[in-house]
Amino acid sequence: MAEQVVGFVGLGRMGGPMSGRLAAAGSAVHVFDTSESALRAAVAAGCMAASSARDVGEKADIVFISLPTPDIVNRAVLGEQGIAGGSRVRIVVDLSTTGPGMAGRVASGLAEKTIAWVDAPVSGGVAGAKGGTLAVMVSGPKPAYALAEPLLKNFGRLFFVGEKAGLAQAAKLANNLLAASALVITSEAVVMGVKAGLDPKVLIDIINVSSGRNSATQDKFPRAILPRSFDFGFATGLSYKDVRLCIDEAEALGVPMVAGAAVREMLAVTQARFGADSDFTSIARVVEEWAGVEIKG
Ligand code: NAD
Repeated sequence: MAEQVVGFVGLGRMGGPMSGRLAAAGSAVHVFDTSESALRAAVAAGCMAASSARDVGEKADIVFISLPTPDIVNRAVLGEQGIAGGSRVRIVVDLSTTGPGMAGRVASGLAEKTIAWVDAPVSGGVAGAKGGTLAVMVSGPKPAYALAEPLLKNFGRLFFVGEKAGLAQAAKLANNLLAASALVITSEAVVMGVKAGLDPKVLIDIINVSSGRNSATQDKFPRAILPRSFDFGFATGLSYKDVRLCIDEAEALGVPMVAGAAVREMLAVTQARFGADSDFTSIARVVEEWAGVEIKG
């Protein structure tokens, strides 16, 4: 089979390094982002700038997207200047966290144009995107997956979960609910420890060899909260969006999420206090403010 020409739309914290990895692996990659600086950085990494999402669909057989919200995904694919308006594109692979509902709707819209939709939400953060060590959850029609698979392997470990549109999104939402919950509950536990007089670094060291260890104690606290840099690389607005999508999906399926709803509200508070663009490790600062202490040694 002839080499596929690749496209990439959305060159942010995740899409930037991922499109760079495809170019470094030898693919011709046509890219677009509404941000000039993101586009320039991708060109510096070996990609070719396109003038719109539609232009990417005009030039590439298979187009990857990594965009912030379900509505933006919908517009960038099916909107007036969207990828599906291009004459060449045959497969769209969504690396964003879009949620099963929107994934199903966009897949139906594309099916009318005989373009296949593959969900491929990822986990592992900016470090995983740079290093090619992400978990990549995939669902979609098997023939399209077969074509996407060699390219997706550049991003990390693949988990094909089935052909139903949006199924991989459900796996991703389950994971992100847990990641956000761990951050919220760890913030409460550590702030309690600090107010009681414990050194937070010692407390985190204890937890990391004890039964309370989790992704926040092992990664987010040592990397972005104890040094007070609050720069883990995932925006509060995106985490809030993920937990909202998860609870909406649970509600649609008849699954009550009592603890999940509390986590969603903590993200709403964090967004109101520090803004949607703040890093989601700012959750810890909300708990600090309420308790009147700072997590520092
Ligand atoms: P980001 O905000 O850093 O990047 C999004 C990019 O999309 C930006 O460069 C923005 O300019 C661009 N964009 C917005 N609207 C556009 C449009 N209409 N057309 C073209 N480009 C447009 O976000 P991110 O952190 O890279 O996340 C992207 C997706 O990946 C989200 O769905 C997020 O939930 C998911 N995700 C993020 C992480 C993480 O750790 N950052 C991890 C896993 C999954």
